[in-house]
Amino acid sequence: MKVVAPSFEVLENLDRESLAVRIEFCGRICYKSEDKIDRESALPFVSKMAEHGHNSVLEMGVVTLEVDCADEGQVTGLFLTQPRYLQISRDGNNLLVTGSVRAFRELLIFHPDCAVVDAMCAYLNKSHPYFFSTILPKKGFTADGSIKVCKVKLSEVEQFPPEKLLKHRHIAVKFIVNRAITHEIVRHRPCSFLQESQRYCRYSDDKFGSEVTFIKPMFFKEDSPEYTIWYKAMVDTEQMYLQLLETSTPQAARTVLPNSCKTELIVYTNLAEWSHIFKLRSTKAAEPSMREVIIPLQQDFLQRFPAAFA
Ligand SMILES: Cc1cc2nc3c(=O)[nH]c(=O)nc-3n(C[C@H](O)[C@H](O)[C@H](O)COP(=O)(O)OP(=O)(O)OC[C@H]3O[C@@H](n4cnc5c(N)ncnc54)[C@H](O)[C@@H]3O)c2cc1C
Repeated sequence: MKVVAPSFEVLENLDRESLAVRIEFCGRICYKSEDKIDRESALPFVSKMAEHGHNSVLEMGVVTLEVDCADEGQVTGLFLTQPRYLQISRDGNNLLVTGSVRAFRELLIFHPDCAVVDAMCAYLNKSHPYFFSTILPKKGFTADGSIKVCKVKLSEVEQFPPEKLLKHRHIAVKFIVNRAITHEIVRHRPCSFLQESQRYCRYSDDKFGSEVTFIKPMFFKEDSPEYTIWYKAMVDTEQMYLQLLETSTPQAARTVLPNSCKTELIVYTNLAEWSHIFKLRSTKAAEPSMREVIIPLQQDFLQRFPAAFA
């Protein structure tokens, strides 16, 4: 068995990658199949996700569009779709719209007759046909040119004033923490999440070192009696888990795994939601092992995005 400290990584490097590359990187965390990533693997991976409707994986790529509508009726048409998963800033008939691949796909599926949805998806389909090929409207796109759509580069988003920056700038963080902490983080519904799957990962496999990894509990000093009790519980648990795997599937054997089990979770959301999470999860009322990662993460964000968090 292995005991590791909790950690996090801000995945800002992913923002320089294509939508397909970043979606593949995040998606593979579920199966811990990052070793399968190569220069050719992203498109087949995301096409398969789109085809099979693995929609949560498609939340891991967002794009910001500038949409110039010809009249107010078109703007109203978009709002009437009640787009819960888009971030929209409005200036007259000019819109800034940020959404994930999933959000745009589902708008197209459920509201193909909305002119703004049609125009945005027609635009995205030009550069990313693999996201839309299985859900194209029967009559095709009708974009008549009255609505102008163009992509807003990340470098331009970063120049937005604070209010818009908080809304439109999304950033992903990968946490390596225990299962109790991820269970708390996933209560923040405005985020997108992907997590290492204990149903699929067989920790007796070579790639996991044939062992279970646990997160060091911050509650107990390493040489204390409490730590000794905890350590023994983990040793015994691992033994039982590995024994169950001899005759059972990982999803069956995992039923003995405890909260201390190490897990990986990618959380992707906008800066406004991160700010909200920092507020709730860094105070003394929050779980101490949550504060152990959230407080340093908050410090990291302050340095990365001073304009948004000033
Ligand atoms: C110190 C602390 C202790 C906690 N203790 C407990 C506990 O004992 N038990 C427990 O169950 N949880 C507990 N929680 C979790 C807490 O109840 C929330 O689930 C969590 O903090 C996320 O809340 P949120 O409002 O930020 O996010 P969400 O609940 O995800 O809400 C985010 C936004 O989504 C919108 N929203 C999403 N879904 C709906 C909906 N169905 N209806 C209306 N609006 C919606 C709202 O506008 C809201 O502003 C605790 C949290 C903290 C910080």
